Amino acid sequence: MSKLNQRNVKTEGSNAFTGIELKEAEDHAAGLTAVKVALGHVFKEMGVVRSFKTLSHMNQIDGFDCPGCAWPDPAKRSKLGEYCENGAKALSEEATNKEVDANFFKTYSIEEISSWTDYKIGKSGRLTQPMLLKPGSIYYEPISWEDAFKVVAEHLYELESPNEAIFYTSGRSSNEAAFLYGLFARAFGTNNMPDCSNMCHESSGVGLSETLGIGKGSVKLEDFDKAEVVMVIGQNPGTNHPRMLSALEKCKANGGHVVSVNPLAEAGLVRFKNPQEVSGIIGNGHKLADYHLQVRINQDVALLKLIQIRLTKLDAIDQSVFDHQFIEKYTEGYEAVLAELETHSEAELLDLCGVDNNAIDSVVKLLAKSDKIIICWAMGLTQHKNGVENIKECVNLLLLKGSLGKEGAGTCPVRGHSNVQGDRTVGIMHYISKSLNNAIRTTFGFNPPEVMGYDVVKGIQAMYNKEAKIFLALGGNFVSAASDTEYTAQAMQNCDLTVQISTKLNRSHCITGKTALILPTLGRSDQDFSGGKQRHFTVENSMGVVHQSKGFLHPISEDIKSEPDIIGGIADAYFKGNHAVDWKSISTDYELLRDKMAQILKGFEDVNTKSKGRGYYLPNNVRDLDFSHLPNKKAQFTVTKLPIHDLKTDEFLLMSIRSHDQFNTTIYGLNDRYRGVHNERRVLFMNETDMVKYDYKKFDVVNLMSNYKGKERKVFQFLVIPYNIPAGNLAAYYPETNPLIPIDEYAIKSNTPISKSVKVTVEKSITL
Ligand code: SF4
Repeated sequence: MSKLNQRNVKTEGSNAFTGIELKEAEDHAAGLTAVKVALGHVFKEMGVVRSFKTLSHMNQIDGFDCPGCAWPDPAKRSKLGEYCENGAKALSEEATNKEVDANFFKTYSIEEISSWTDYKIGKSGRLTQPMLLKPGSIYYEPISWEDAFKVVAEHLYELESPNEAIFYTSGRSSNEAAFLYGLFARAFGTNNMPDCSNMCHESSGVGLSETLGIGKGSVKLEDFDKAEVVMVIGQNPGTNHPRMLSALEKCKANGGHVVSVNPLAEAGLVRFKNPQEVSGIIGNGHKLADYHLQVRINQDVALLKLIQIRLTKLDAIDQSVFDHQFIEKYTEGYEAVLAELETHSEAELLDLCGVDNNAIDSVVKLLAKSDKIIICWAMGLTQHKNGVENIKECVNLLLLKGSLGKEGAGTCPVRGHSNVQGDRTVGIMHYISKSLNNAIRTTFGFNPPEVMGYDVVKGIQAMYNKEAKIFLALGGNFVSAASDTEYTAQAMQNCDLTVQISTKLNRSHCITGKTALILPTLGRSDQDFSGGKQRHFTVENSMGVVHQSKGFLHPISEDIKSEPDIIGGIADAYFKGNHAVDWKSISTDYELLRDKMAQILKGFEDVNTKSKGRGYYLPNNVRDLDFSHLPNKKAQFTVTKLPIHDLKTDEFLLMSIRSHDQFNTTIYGLNDRYRGVHNERRVLFMNETDMVKYDYKKFDVVNLMSNYKGKERKVFQFLVIPYNIPAGNLAAYYPETNPLIPIDEYAIKSNTPISKSVKVTVEKSITL
């Protein structure tokens, strides 16, 4: 990495191998091992008594929301605990006893910290006081909160235009914090509000909005009990949303079927050993996926078209396979979709998707006789150039079957971070919402900007080109999360000021602007007191339920502030009391803040009352079959195209994946237990026929290269391991593989980086 600002910081720590042990991939998820691993993590970081006390409050009605994924909580909460292995790991990271304080930063320079692996950096502990990195310095030093707010305000004053500042949000933020942050960005004068959903589910938002009129899913948790078929496409719930397995188990117990569509046969969809049941602890648990359609990377559209062609043929025989009444009443574009399907041969689509023909036939028969179908998906569909069309093809299938707006049916984009959906609902967006702006104008009396802002990709490009000079991050680890790591790092270093509002140390605290601030904030599990009164905040889960979350633990330091207090402090320092908004009051009094949100946000009327207890569902037009704001007031079928990759003979398609010991960019450990990989992250999953074809042996050391528009990007030192993955496809973990993904390769319309279908070549490494 180039020396910039006299700082020799690294985008990656040591790539030395850590001692791989390869075992058989597991054929089930959870069970006793998961309990042991989860408790091992929390005991190590939090101690035994503190662990049990805290876990008993996680995801409970009066407790705090899990800082992990956004899977919803059931109506009745288990007394044994309402969390999964990875939820416990997420808690252990947040509630660790380890502190990163002024002494830590005196001892370690950012050059040294950046040479550590992400795993080691993350394990350093919780940030405990505000820290400042001065221009040219490589050591953070303490700063008071007041002075920190002044540093931000002074840098904001120096900008020539408000659009030179970027306000990034991660999915950890509460609704209150995100709303306040968005309000401040607008009051400051910009819509530069990229957020982490730009990198994950933006394709879902765009695809669903254009076809169904809402960028969110339509199912409720109870729908899984009634579904006849649940299709899980491009998603690995065993690792990323483990409590979803209980919902699938219930679906099966009620006679439903589960179909998995994925290039990898993930353990979580094979069999589930529910740790809350005796059969899950000492028995074999329950089989989940009835069919696994092992699709080639990014050939989901080919598979879905093939399924629809076969369904069309069956429908031609008895006209009951499709829901013609539903199609007639609620949709448009049916004929065009059917006409386009006729242009494809089954053989062509079968060849493209690479799925077993008999398995497809079985699934087609199942779908033909079912009308309560749920389609779930995650990054396996969204992070491709055709990410938006992938979603639209899923919608096509649901529209044909009339599987919307009724029990047991609908769309289910599963969100990976606990409040990523809520952030958008409360106004974190880079585009203009006229209704939101009007409401802000009426309620607060200032005019929000009407110029489109930057999303993640455009924001990075603006910083790289020095058109943006200040980067504020409300949570997250931006450098490690974004694509094209070297480019992103350069972009950050081009800034005059970078500000990270964070709970824990991460790489983005090392790769900074000329001046940098770390502003430590409370986590989900922390108590949040003001004026002797405990405050709570709200979040929205993956199914549109807004509910309260109240911390339990005494914060690790007295010098940590809540996110709203920090935002309010910055806003107050910037406006100095000369603004229509009373920033101090609304950032301190969350009830007052929610009252303001209730005046502005659709669905937030009376949120202070309704969010208590189990919370409440936000309005959802698909549940009501109300498509009145779509063209011709109809849900839209879409004619999609098959993706084209034009691979050269030695090129593969690589998908970046999480290990089981990982949550987004947070690395909990070095194991990927379900896939049989232990104590190593630098692995490359490769089909055995490809290994023979290209003469690779197990544990050969290789480098990976991508070459887009003549620019070569390279990552080094990966161990080849044979794996059940389609020929021509590869998988490896991120963030290690993020440097391969060009900044300007992203999904059409959503700008989501193509993290799941990167063209790469492989070369043997000459170093060990
Ligand atoms: S499923 Fe998600 S929300 Fe639930 S405990 Fe696990 S990580 Fe947390």
